[in-house]
Amino acid sequence: MDAISYQRAPDIGAALAAASQPGTMFIGGGTNLLDLMKGGVMRPVTLVDITHIDALNGITALPDGGLRIGALVRNSDAANHAWVRERYPLLSQAFLAGASAQLRNMATVGGNLMQRTRCYYFYDTGFPQCNKRNPGSGCAALQGNTRIHAILGASAQCIATNPSDMSVALAALDAVVRVTGPQGDRAIPFAEFHRLPGDRPELDTTLKQGELITSVDLPPPMFADHAKYLKVRDRASYAFALVSVAAALQMDGRTIKQARIALGGVAHKPWRATATEQALTGQSLDTNTLQHAAALAVRDAKPQRDNAFKVQLAQRAIVRAIQQAGGVA
Ligand code: SF4
Repeated sequence: MDAISYQRAPDIGAALAAASQPGTMFIGGGTNLLDLMKGGVMRPVTLVDITHIDALNGITALPDGGLRIGALVRNSDAANHAWVRERYPLLSQAFLAGASAQLRNMATVGGNLMQRTRCYYFYDTGFPQCNKRNPGSGCAALQGNTRIHAILGASAQCIATNPSDMSVALAALDAVVRVTGPQGDRAIPFAEFHRLPGDRPELDTTLKQGELITSVDLPPPMFADHAKYLKVRDRASYAFALVSVAAALQMDGRTIKQARIALGGVAHKPWRATATEQALTGQSLDTNTLQHAAALAVRDAKPQRDNAFKVQLAQRAIVRAIQQAGGVA
């Protein structure tokens, strides 16, 4: 690991001032960043410790009935907070599906938003070709093992997936990421926070240089009664999703009034299945209806050599998650 300098920021102003220097990164729980630094994948010059900034902590009610989760709130604290469990069970389930108990105790909400892909070739610096790690170098995955890679929204430069469970639920819930930076405060709709790779796969998000995540805001709860986060993975715990589904429904009797469906493990960002949502509106939980709607989510899928199974898996997981959210499975 390279030598680094370390600063502890007492407040947001100090953190932003420190981040104006080249090669500076913020560190919260460090559960991903420190691994990447040890492996030589990321090489910050200066780490600014933001964990003592009180303004970034806490879970508070918003005047509109929504919830604000501070960027420094630990994943385990968010998952087990009474308001999150009662009003946003989809999010609580997604938190608890991620990582291990020990990691959830360290990892922060802001850090979860910023975690990097788990593409094998991104982590292994023995492979010089990785456009995300070393822009312009190529993509080793395209000639390698593509089992865990994207089937939607990939580019010729990168086929990596986003590993966050939390973010899939936040996409379905239409959360907003609040940030502050040299140009002031911004509120970023969740669908616009993470990027598709395009020809700049080194950029995971739309954050600007020097910006700091301050909170995630949730709109007033609409899906507390019918929500399911379903994660399909190789092991029952401490494994990343091959495919995951965040399903949230508003039901009128046995009819779906409104549906929100987001997928994880299939793209460079959490993938909202809007065609599926539209097809579900006004329908029942009949299996044929759900299968038809699920097929729409992957109609544009372009699987790689080793992951065609994800196309079928995603459809079955969508059907299962909706059935469980609707209480019929
Ligand atoms: Fe790098 Fe993306 Fe290719 Fe993986 S898929 S090797 S992260 S460019």
